[in-house]
Amino acid sequence: MSQILVQTMDLLKQAAAEYSPDVVFACSFGAEDVVLFDLIAKHAPSIRIITLDTGRLPQETYDVMDACREKYGLKIELQFPAAPDVEQMVREKGVNLFYQSIENRKLCCEIRKVRPLKRALEGAEAWVTGLRREQASSRTDMQPIEDDAAFGIRKFNPLIEWSEKDIWDYIHANDVPYNKLHDQFYPSIGCAPCTRAISAGEDPRAGRWWWENEDAVAECGLHANPVSDVKGAH
Ligand code: SF4
Repeated sequence: MSQILVQTMDLLKQAAAEYSPDVVFACSFGAEDVVLFDLIAKHAPSIRIITLDTGRLPQETYDVMDACREKYGLKIELQFPAAPDVEQMVREKGVNLFYQSIENRKLCCEIRKVRPLKRALEGAEAWVTGLRREQASSRTDMQPIEDDAAFGIRKFNPLIEWSEKDIWDYIHANDVPYNKLHDQFYPSIGCAPCTRAISAGEDPRAGRWWWENEDAVAECGLHANPVSDVKGAH
């Protein structure tokens, strides 16, 4: 654990030294991201922290967002979807359009998540994510630092070698605020209508867009390239 913690801190310090103020941490306030929040506050506070408020987040996510703001005193830059885009989408397809088709779900993710993330990354030269290699087979080839072809910037993955146990050991040892939905069998937390608890033995990402056909590519588009994110962490 201590060795991967050193690697993580080195990567965060490198990202801050090479790219501040043009490096952002895209924080979803899941378990990995609160660990990174804590580490950034302690070791690399010049990294800007952004988060996407899709307008459909669970109350528990807002609770941990505020708990982090209060504990660490860091500015959190919220990025909202463009109101005209949301208004047009909801008028035309309804507020729960994502249950009707994969196409609709991807449109909702595009408007509420992907476009706001693109706006948040405008002008950035690098971003930091809480992706871990063991989260998905699609992440086997992930590197600690890589070029993000989708956004045309550098991507730092400081938690790449952490296990789930490492994450929770760190949270408990450092009294890091975390999303209370994790205590109710929600390993992966996204928007409230698109996230459910999982049962014992289910894939950790089975609670995301669970109504879709297993063969469909369940992908939110935030980490589409170069790492394909099947039912990813956001
Ligand atoms: S996760 Fe669901 S509610 Fe959130 S942006 Fe995607 S489709 Fe819309």
